[in-house]
Amino acid sequence: MLKIEHLGIAVKNLNESISLFEQLLSTPCYKTESVASENVSTAFFKTGDSKIELLEATDENSPIAKFIAKKGEGIHHIAFEVENIEAEMRRLSALGFEILNATPKDGADNKLVCFLHPKTTNGVLIELCQEKR
Ligand code: ZN
Repeated sequence: MLKIEHLGIAVKNLNESISLFEQLLSTPCYKTESVASENVSTAFFKTGDSKIELLEATDENSPIAKFIAKKGEGIHHIAFEVENIEAEMRRLSALGFEILNATPKDGADNKLVCFLHPKTTNGVLIELCQEKR
C-alpha cells in the first residue's frame, strides 16, 4: 500500500460540515461529488499530501445513514492508496480479510475502490483506492 489517501468522516449535514472544515483546515473544499452506488454525497479537502472526505447520506438506505444511526458522526473509514487494486484484493482475500465487494467499483474523486469488512480489521472499515488510469 502506498499511503493513507484519505480519512472518511460521516456527517449529518454536508453543507454545515463543509463550512466547519473550511474553517478548521483553513482551506476551501476542492470538490463535491455524489456517489450513486453508495447513496452518499461527498466533499473533499486537501491538507498537504492527505485528504479528508466528508460523507453525508442521501437516503436512509445509505451505509452512512446506518453508521450515524449506530455510532453517531465521526471517522467512518481509512482509505489506503494502492498501485493495483485487483492484485491487493487477491492478496488480502488470500490472507483471510473479508472484502465487501467482489470487484472494484467506482468511487468518488476518480478512484476505483473496494472495502474490507471491519470485523476482519479490528473494527476499522478500510477502503482501498486506485487512481483510474
Ligand atoms: Zn473514502
